[in-house]
Amino acid sequence: MPSDIEIARAATLKPIADVARKIGIPDEALHNYGKHIAKIDHDFIKSLEGKPDGKLVLVTAISPTPAGEGKTTTTVGLGDALNRIGKKTVMCLREPSLGPCFGMKGGAAGGGKAQVVPMEQINLHFTGDFHAITSAHSLAAALIDNHIYWANELNIDVRRIHWRRVVDMNDRALRAINQSLGGVANGFPREDGFDITVASEVMAVFCLAKDLADLEERLGRIVIAETRDRKPVTLAQVKATGAMTVLLKDALQPNLVQTLEGNPALIHGGPFANIAHGCNSVIATRSGLKLADYVVTEAGFGADLGAEKFIDIKCRQTGLKPSAVVIVATVRALKMHGGVDKKSLGSENLEALEKGFANLERHVQNVRSFGLPVVVGVNHFYQDTDAEHARLKELCRDKLQVEAITCKHWAEGGAGAEDLAHAVVKLAEGAQKPLSFVYETESKLTDKIKAIATKLYGAADIQIESKAAGKLAGFEKDGYGNLPVCMAKTQYSFSTDPSLMGAPSGHIIAVRDVRLSAGAGFVVVICGEIMTMPGLPKVPAADTIRLDANGQIDGLF
Ligand code: ADP
Ligand code: MG
Repeated sequence: MPSDIEIARAATLKPIADVARKIGIPDEALHNYGKHIAKIDHDFIKSLEGKPDGKLVLVTAISPTPAGEGKTTTTVGLGDALNRIGKKTVMCLREPSLGPCFGMKGGAAGGGKAQVVPMEQINLHFTGDFHAITSAHSLAAALIDNHIYWANELNIDVRRIHWRRVVDMNDRALRAINQSLGGVANGFPREDGFDITVASEVMAVFCLAKDLADLEERLGRIVIAETRDRKPVTLAQVKATGAMTVLLKDALQPNLVQTLEGNPALIHGGPFANIAHGCNSVIATRSGLKLADYVVTEAGFGADLGAEKFIDIKCRQTGLKPSAVVIVATVRALKMHGGVDKKSLGSENLEALEKGFANLERHVQNVRSFGLPVVVGVNHFYQDTDAEHARLKELCRDKLQVEAITCKHWAEGGAGAEDLAHAVVKLAEGAQKPLSFVYETESKLTDKIKAIATKLYGAADIQIESKAAGKLAGFEKDGYGNLPVCMAKTQYSFSTDPSLMGAPSGHIIAVRDVRLSAGAGFVVVICGEIMTMPGLPKVPAADTIRLDANGQIDGLF
């Protein structure tokens, strides 16, 4: 099989206006970025408001392993398959971050014959949305230091500024810096640091905002510092939000591209899945629902993190509700959950598969506890054996009464996921229960954390370090107690120990720190090391990325 980029490059793309017309978007509503990418105009999106919604399908997965699961690939394959069986379907995905493209290889536009294109542009600058977010974030940073320089009327405590700086690059040298050095004219020296753009709260706000007005209001609620007497200072108080909204105006229009099979995909926004909620923009999801019968969307990491945040944050804030959930599993990853190391995945191992099934089992039960109908999509890898797939189907049927469907979209495109598409339609058009959240909005913040830990992670209890407990009490006092929580923990385990695979239980979830994201509308709960500025590996992908003699990009994926 050729590489992802070879397949993508060999594809014949349709003019983007043709793709748009398929879902009723007229030419006038498109802002073209070349021939194959367009933004959809704000006014057109507003005009869709009264229309009925299509059905939302959430793609999530078992706990990730180095063996790979393929959520994005399955989202694209399922979307193509739904289109093939006559359901007008739009896929909603996150925009990839540019920095990691130069580190480890691995695209974020699907893989094999289930990809969105043009993949080079999507993975690199695309329509400049992340650059706009970097600029808006940087403007706020400049305004904060400028405010302090000119008399600091808000009495901002320069030792307690939470707003860091951002750049869309893996650059560990910037994690902690000293700034404003060099004399009186350059301000008050202080420690600062950079995060990667996708970790900016502007990104999370961008993805949760209903429209431009909501974007501006949310930006205004972001707490950027504390005063000398420990009162929160917001972005509205430094008068940053009007100009930031101007910088973000065009970026907030969703980006339309196509799959290899010419079906529409909206790729918009890309928040971190740990310190943020990890799914594409609400504006894109809602627009997709107005334009199509089905929207297939992906949430980051495993279902304990991605699906939980999708429900408890995105759905709670917006009223969205999935009609069906696909949990992606692979035989390889389940064998790893059953104790097999990566090198030995090539040989059949039914015992390990059965043992590792415990991880899938817990995720299925969790998603059902939200009141949502589930199907398991088994993403087929060529080394898998028929016996392994048969055994996995049996386990799903006998232990969980859930259907597991082998899909081959990576090798075959949409045709390889038609069975999954039929199963999804059956669930989505079948009886629906109301959404049931993991906790009530009114519960105390600590009770929310405990509910997630005990109900979804199988933990016996939580343990909150005293510094974090003090901050939580402060958030309650300052009126932020009604926010949902956003868990930042390892994606590899239900526990906080990444090496505890499968379905551990009875463990303690230790909460080390908490952070307020008042604009995004959640409290981030940090259970372990969370990296907000990645570094590059010893041999970065950038070493071999180049333009070849034909002007084509070489070495990217
Ligand atoms: P996720 O969204 O869960 O992170 P992706 O869909 O992006 O995963 O897939 C990760 C990588 O695995 C991609 O490079 C993709 O090409 C590869 N991949 C996915 N499914 C398969 C498969 N069935 N066979 C081989 N490679 C696959
Ligand atoms: Mg993905």
